[in-house]
Amino acid sequence: MKTYGRFPLTLVRGAGSRVWDDQGKEYLDCVAGIATCTLGHAHPAMVQAVTQQMSTLAHVSNLYYIPQQGDLATWLIENSCADKAFFCNSGAEANEGAIKLARKYGHTRLGIENPVIITAKASFHGRTLAAVTATGQPKYHKNFAPLVPGFAYAAYNDIAALESTIAELEQDGPQVAAIMLEPLQGEGGVNPGDRAYFQRVREICDAKKILLIMDEVQVGMGRSGKIWGHQTLGVEPDVFTSAKGLGGGVPIGALLTKDYCAVLEPGDHASTFGGNPFVCAVSLAVCRTIEQEHLLANVQARGEQLRAGLAAVAAKYPNVIDHVRGWGLINGAVIREDAEMTAIEVVKRAMNDGLLLVPAGPKVVRFVPPLVITAAEIDEAVEKFDRALAGG
Ligand code: PMP
Repeated sequence: MKTYGRFPLTLVRGAGSRVWDDQGKEYLDCVAGIATCTLGHAHPAMVQAVTQQMSTLAHVSNLYYIPQQGDLATWLIENSCADKAFFCNSGAEANEGAIKLARKYGHTRLGIENPVIITAKASFHGRTLAAVTATGQPKYHKNFAPLVPGFAYAAYNDIAALESTIAELEQDGPQVAAIMLEPLQGEGGVNPGDRAYFQRVREICDAKKILLIMDEVQVGMGRSGKIWGHQTLGVEPDVFTSAKGLGGGVPIGALLTKDYCAVLEPGDHASTFGGNPFVCAVSLAVCRTIEQEHLLANVQARGEQLRAGLAAVAAKYPNVIDHVRGWGLINGAVIREDAEMTAIEVVKRAMNDGLLLVPAGPKVVRFVPPLVITAAEIDEAVEKFDRALAGG
């Protein structure tokens, strides 16, 4: 089955923020497995953790205590507002867990028979059936009906839209168990959350005992300049999910929650591979390297440098680029609606010139490099982006 639209490119090797194709051509990687290769490629700390854990004990069942899982949970809890962690294998799976948790919370704590979860229009939460239903972009729903019941959608960063959605749902009493939002919408066009909006959402959730779930799959694990996007926003969720950058390239997802809403009990939810010694040891190496190499400071500095560079390029092409937006090392150059240029065209031209970029929708060119990217590499990315706009 042809499930992926692919570029004619075969990557065979990587080191740091660079990758090479099967012809030996070098590329600067500002895709990083789509915001996943936190430490870049072949980082010694990951290689060491992979080798060490694979040669000791790669997998055991969750029937037994897994120390690496305990250590990773401890790190995540010490570096966030969460009290409890559950591990799985992907972002979609972490969100499925969050959805189940929210429904059980709705049933058992709020006494709601058919709990509804409100998500944002233009959001993206994954491709499994509940996660794709949560996703607020109709193009991902097409031909997959019947979708999962119990979801409603409100415009992002729009408090009036959210309030009227809640009011409509709750005409006859409580219906809403959770509001689920990305701190910054990644697939929806690298659109950062508004602080005042999120503060107001937090207040609404507190007043109505609704859970605030944040999907940190794309923006979490340091990419925003803080470990979590919600720390960048200054608003604490009750529940949040992580994946992608959490494993730096190995498949791991996490569902994190505060104690008071940790309603899942033994027998409610599980995953065979979830949190096995191998992935947890590698993920822990990613977490510790973020600290040891002071990567958050690098993300902040390189992010500012990138946005300044992109803004200067945007000023050269005012008829093409509308504006540049983002946090830390998740940034988008937004192409004007009335410009003929599309994001995919820019991405193709940059690829020919040795720079990997990825669209976020038809009109946004996304830059999500490894968190280890250097100042010289950022300059190179900006130069190549400039050349791509000039005509490739
Ligand atoms: N949530 C967000 C915000 C994402 O960006 C993605 C992936 N693009 C997912 C969930 C799904 O993650 P996965 O592909 O690991 O299932």
